[in-house]
Amino acid sequence: MPDSDCLFCNIVAGDIPADVIYESDTAIAFRDINPQAPTHVVIIPRQHISTINDIDDEHEPIVGSLFSAAKAIAAQEGIADDGYRVVMNCNKAAGQSVFHVHLHLLGGRIMNWPPG
Ligand code: 5GP
Ligand code: ZN
Repeated sequence: MPDSDCLFCNIVAGDIPADVIYESDTAIAFRDINPQAPTHVVIIPRQHISTINDIDDEHEPIVGSLFSAAKAIAAQEGIADDGYRVVMNCNKAAGQSVFHVHLHLLGGRIMNWPPG
């Protein structure tokens, strides 16, 4: 069920604009409004799932499709061979600020480890 109070559900619905660069039956992706790397794309399921803790067995194909999207977008952005990072934050201690699960796809620069 879409959540009308959820920013990313509103982006999926087209009610809030975003620079959408990828769409599939289960996922969409758009450029992050506050990019942390030359390429910073947010990949989300069309379906509202709040956090990783809310992922059920039935969501597995949807969650898997986020990684298929990451692969396709990395190729599209020309960063697949150099390398890139995908990150999914869960809850406040990890820095999750939008409670609709999303993969961050970051690339176009050297990524440090460990992350902050
Ligand atoms: P989180 O902090 O939950 O892991 O990631 C949320 C991400 O969404 C942040 O990187 C933030 O910059 C991005 N974001 C927040 N609001 C918007 C928005 O309205 N449009 C876009 N394109 N990105 C947003
Ligand atoms: Zn949502």
